[in-house]
Amino acid sequence: MIRTIVWGENHHEQTNRVVSDLYPNGMHGCIADALNADPAIEATTATLQEPEHGLSEARLAETDVLTWWGHARHGDVDDAVVERVAAHVWSGMGLICLHSAHFSKIFKRLMGTPCNLSWREAGERERLWVTSRNHPIVAGLPDHFELEHEEMYGEPFGIPEPMETVMIGWFQGGEVFRSGVTYKKGAGSVFYFQPGHETYPTYHDANIQTVLRNGVKWAYNSAPRVLDVTSAPNRAVEDALEPITARGPKLHEDGQEGFT
Ligand code: ZN
Repeated sequence: MIRTIVWGENHHEQTNRVVSDLYPNGMHGCIADALNADPAIEATTATLQEPEHGLSEARLAETDVLTWWGHARHGDVDDAVVERVAAHVWSGMGLICLHSAHFSKIFKRLMGTPCNLSWREAGERERLWVTSRNHPIVAGLPDHFELEHEEMYGEPFGIPEPMETVMIGWFQGGEVFRSGVTYKKGAGSVFYFQPGHETYPTYHDANIQTVLRNGVKWAYNSAPRVLDVTSAPNRAVEDALEPITARGPKLHEDGQEGFT
């Protein structure tokens, strides 16, 4: 079983009637239901409002893949939790960032770039084009499919060059966007997927749900987590694999911790 946490900001569902009508159990509830339709996935939810946002060290240690949806409350996410999630990704946990999570702290932390884009909320038709045929994330999908209503997200998208561009989205107003992109960050696989504006029924769409399930399976890493992923040990001269003699000027004392 792929142990998956579906993280939701759970803000608009509590404050906006359109969103709560579309997603009576929260967007995170809808996404988790879609994932749990696959017998290989065991999805639970976590929200911003829970202690430690539902992402304690103990819970993350037993999580294979984390999905993240946030929009209006990115700033309320505790920096310590962001660093904790980043360390788990570097150690091998999969991460899927959805829609407005392009501006989440965790996505910006991992990308290291502004992650900005152009946008327009006009209910436009989006046509998603598969650009990497046979990629596991698009297994079972046609070469292109449409969403009748989506928020326009347009290029230029301020991300580093992706490892793979799996899908490109075209919008009725003429813009295009790298809608499905992958990265490797340390030992962790990261997938960003653009559709999912909260006032549209995007996460009820069958093709979108297929992408979510495929994405979780793609991001899953069966290897044990890398231990001490941020450690930077000072290896003593006498422990070198081949005999060496220290020479030249030195800044550090023998055995001193490195600067971080
Ligand atoms: Zn949106």
